[in-house]
Amino acid sequence: MADRSAIEWTEATWNPTTGCDRVSAGCDNCYALALAARLKAMGSPKYQQDGDPRTSGPGFGVTVHADALSIPLRWRAPRHVFVNSMSDLFHARVPTTFIQDVFGVMAAAPQHTFQVLTKRSRRLARLADTLPWSDNVWMGVSVEDGAALPRIDDLRRVPAVVRFLSCEPLLGPLTGVDLDDIDWVIAGGESGRHHRRMDPAWVIELRDLCTEAAVPFFFKQWGGRTPKSGGRTLEGRIWDGMPVTTRPSPLAASTM
Ligand code: SF4
Repeated sequence: MADRSAIEWTEATWNPTTGCDRVSAGCDNCYALALAARLKAMGSPKYQQDGDPRTSGPGFGVTVHADALSIPLRWRAPRHVFVNSMSDLFHARVPTTFIQDVFGVMAAAPQHTFQVLTKRSRRLARLADTLPWSDNVWMGVSVEDGAALPRIDDLRRVPAVVRFLSCEPLLGPLTGVDLDDIDWVIAGGESGRHHRRMDPAWVIELRDLCTEAAVPFFFKQWGGRTPKSGGRTLEGRIWDGMPVTTRPSPLAASTM
């Protein structure tokens, strides 16, 4: 974990689990998978378990870190915390009791706002009733193309105070996406050596749908060889929309 993050829409990362397996097109160039291999080679203790080479890789086997659970409790200053930048909390190999422990810690740290993002939306929906949904938990699903749209229906079944979509890397049009009960949309292109191009029409269409539905829209980046290659201006301006909540939002104050 790190108590400062380079991700534009959060402030810190916390990884009570590490490792994952690719599940859909959005995973093809998973940055965490590549980073885990480097961390393993550097001897980082959290990244010594290998995953299945067909879907995962060196240092990226799913691993639960009970000793990392208490970390956010020790951070006094309020911050937005991205949960599991190096994993997917709802992966089938993360025990339900551990997911409940993570939610327990989030409830016990009301000074922070936690942002949880998953591609395993079916398990999320299945477990939702067994989790304590404190009002500092924002829950999101990744929606990279039309095949991922059913994840949004799963998300709607979750009683989180903020439900959000991460449309990054945006790999196809999301024409007509239903934004009912969705509070925030993040979009962005892919970066890295093998990045896939995002058609501007896809992101403009999504921005327009958000505007029509009065859903805050955050445009993270165009993508390219590096995350900053294409900048983050869309039709002449920065789109830094953040969800409207009654909780104090230090990040919103600094970016809006
Ligand atoms: S779900 Fe996320 S962490 Fe897991 S392989 Fe896909 S992109 Fe990587």
